[in-house]
Amino acid sequence: MSSHMSSRGLPEFELLIPRTSPEAMDMLAQHRDQLSILNGGTALWNYVRGRNRVTPYVLSLSALKGLDYINEIPGDGLRIGAKATIAQLIEHPAVSAKYAALHESGYWFGNPTVRNMATVMGNVLRASPSADCSCALLALGCQVILQNKSGQRAVDIDDFWLSYDVTARKPDELAVEIRIPEPKATTRSAFQRLTRVRQDLAKLNVAVRLEMDKGVCQQARIAIGCVGPTTMRVKKTEALLQGKAINDSLLEQLATSVRGEISPIDDQRSTALYRQQVAGVIVKRTISRAAADKGATQ
Ligand SMILES: Cc1cc2nc3c(=O)[nH]c(=O)nc-3n(C[C@H](O)[C@H](O)[C@H](O)COP(=O)(O)OP(=O)(O)OC[C@H]3O[C@@H](n4cnc5c(N)ncnc54)[C@H](O)[C@@H]3O)c2cc1C
Repeated sequence: MSSHMSSRGLPEFELLIPRTSPEAMDMLAQHRDQLSILNGGTALWNYVRGRNRVTPYVLSLSALKGLDYINEIPGDGLRIGAKATIAQLIEHPAVSAKYAALHESGYWFGNPTVRNMATVMGNVLRASPSADCSCALLALGCQVILQNKSGQRAVDIDDFWLSYDVTARKPDELAVEIRIPEPKATTRSAFQRLTRVRQDLAKLNVAVRLEMDKGVCQQARIAIGCVGPTTMRVKKTEALLQGKAINDSLLEQLATSVRGEISPIDDQRSTALYRQQVAGVIVKRTISRAAADKGATQ
């Protein structure tokens, strides 16, 4: 199904509304980079309205069935379908119980209207360094499942964002699922962001995942957004945590290390200097909260 759309506010494009997955794959194969994928639309309509990224075709996922799930697979982890919204994410009992960083990233996200429309997948595919769920997903570790006419492939989240607004997705691929490995009973995670007012996009966000053993951190993943062209891990700082008890002196070392690993820029939401100073503090607080296992959304 397709229809032409234009209005005084929107440039002209052809809206494609596939009803089945094979139909969607055919359209992607045919139009490739002449086509944009429309999911919740909270980011895409802004590009289209701003005329800064208009393609002749827009493929809406609205009529595709069976993609709006969040499933916990015992022993295997969490599966998030392409159309699952932020609202679904924060209501899911397994997400709040076992994937605290992801739950918190959804809890602090936008406002109720945006949370009802925006999808977790759209957040990842938007490839913005300020994206909140993306920051949590990088800390937790996950795979993005991409599908085209020939089949599916999995891309590790560490390899997914290539630069600002650029992902590993090929033009004929649809991102269909996010797979997060199951945490151990001793895994802890947390997310925190800084905004001017609640509804703003982040000026800085941080997520951590810690593998703890009797107060000692065995392994850590630390993701920071808004300090580079993509959300990034600070691997030297992660290494400092390995095999260490988390105490005040270690937290100070971590804060200093973080400042050395990032090179933020000035933009309309914050300054490079502020981000440089504050990133270490937020990392420190997020690690302390994760290690103490106290949620920020209770
Ligand atoms: C008022 C407002 C508040 C916001 N607040 C926040 C916030 O607090 N935190 C935050 O991180 N973001 C925020 N955003 C940004 C935006 O809502 C999110 O990035 C959102 O998750 C995008 O999801 P979506 O489903 O709306 O994506 P869309 O707008 O539909 O798509 C976004 C991008 O992803 C691509 N895409 C989407 N799905 C797929 C797929 N399955 N396969 C391939 N490509 C795909 C699209 O082509 C497009 O390039 C806000 C936006 C608005 C308008």
